[in-house]
Amino acid sequence: MTDALAAGGDDTVRAVKNWAGNITFSARELHRPTSPSALRALVAGSRRVRVLGSGHSFNRIADVDGDGPDTALVSLSALAPSIDVDIAARTVRVSGGVRYAELARHIASSGLALPNMASLPHISVAGSVATGTHGSGNGNQSLAETVRAVELVTADGETVVLNRGEDGFDGSVVSLGALGVVLALTLGLEPHFEVSQHVFGELPLEGLDFEAVTSAAYSVSLFTDWRGPRFNQVWLKRRGEATVDFPWAKAASEPRHPVPGMPAAHCTEQLGVPGPWHERLPHFRAEFTPSSGAELQSEYLLPREHALAALHALDRLRQEVAPVLQVCEVRTVAADTQWLSPAHGRDTVAFHFTWVPDAAAVLPVVARVEESLARFAPRPHWGKVFAADPAVLGDRYPHAADFAALAGRLDPAGKFRNSFVRRFLGPRA
Ligand SMILES: Cc1cc2nc3c(=O)[nH]c(=O)nc-3n(C[C@H](O)[C@H](O)[C@H](O)COP(=O)(O)OP(=O)(O)OC[C@H]3O[C@@H](n4cnc5c(N)ncnc54)[C@H](O)[C@@H]3O)c2cc1C
Repeated sequence: MTDALAAGGDDTVRAVKNWAGNITFSARELHRPTSPSALRALVAGSRRVRVLGSGHSFNRIADVDGDGPDTALVSLSALAPSIDVDIAARTVRVSGGVRYAELARHIASSGLALPNMASLPHISVAGSVATGTHGSGNGNQSLAETVRAVELVTADGETVVLNRGEDGFDGSVVSLGALGVVLALTLGLEPHFEVSQHVFGELPLEGLDFEAVTSAAYSVSLFTDWRGPRFNQVWLKRRGEATVDFPWAKAASEPRHPVPGMPAAHCTEQLGVPGPWHERLPHFRAEFTPSSGAELQSEYLLPREHALAALHALDRLRQEVAPVLQVCEVRTVAADTQWLSPAHGRDTVAFHFTWVPDAAAVLPVVARVEESLARFAPRPHWGKVFAADPAVLGDRYPHAADFAALAGRLDPAGKFRNSFVRRFLGPRA
């Protein structure tokens, strides 16, 4: 089984948990079909089905309702992985259980590249795009935008393929796992490129030119512990830009980890040493396996034009946020077309929080953060901790009703819908 998912050692009481350990799934058993035909039979014969990817979400999005014999929480980890790169077409077909680290190595060895990656390469591709996972960059869209085709095992065990441009495709990638089992995805690629990573030190919030700072490189991340009105670090991932032009802060002279006190050895190479895209775009090295996640995470995505106002709103909450925070990362994401992507239709700024692993202390602060950002119509990251009831989020997604119609068409009986998804879809379902 994957290292991300903990199963209790005792034979009588087994618990399936997420990577962070803050969620114990309702199902006490994880089904691991070993062939596509076994998977189809399992799906067709179950009343309720959900797929667990690499378990890196922090809420109940992957959960299946109940623990009956006709209820299946499914992992694709025992299916033979497949990664087929088509160099001429610049595409890759990747099976549903594969993680970005493995995929990226294959793509790079074929002389091609993904345009962007998330901070951690250990997350599964299908699970990441299902929640609208993103990296950073004013010109970089969410990871879902690379998807060209989705192959789904639907409720009756049959396969449905949705290609980009076809009716319903824009709802099929960021799917919250609610349309079927993603057996494979086809992603668009580009020629291989190199990236160099530079870390800069303290950058005050006062006088910040957010657009200029986030335009300074292909991908920019600003980190703060909110113990002062400033960013402790700014990470620039430069693609092809010849020189470093960042007059607002001093370059770090040694490698840094974004969380104070954590070892920089876990991070991808810095100090401007050029390297292949997949060894620089994530913050963390693929060869370092995070043991367990002593953290909770939240993230809010809102229109980039409000970035400075939102930063000042958060600055006013510093005294509440800082004591339960490990680090806050601010990134940008270009608008995309996926119906349920938190960056749908708007150039976006994303405020990410890595909290201490203490839900009782963190949740009231999460609610306060949501109150303070409410006027900017934030969309929470689907895979992270948020306080808002999913029922109220439909209004923030202009295509929520289209998604409900798509789910109704592909899965009329709601086999793949859990409580989380049903609350979001509400009367639209
Ligand atoms: C350390 C860490 C770093 C992170 N960094 C980032 C980041 O940089 N940017 C960002 O945006 N997010 C980030 N995240 C959040 C993470 O990308 C999302 O939670 C993502 O969904 C995790 O993928 P997973 O495979 O673990 O999904 P899971 O949590 O296992 O599942 C997520 C959803 O996908 C569905 N799903 C998974 N596989 C399939 C399948 N084959 N078929 C159908 N449905 C499926 C599940 O049912 C569920 O609804 C990070 C999380 C962690 C723990």
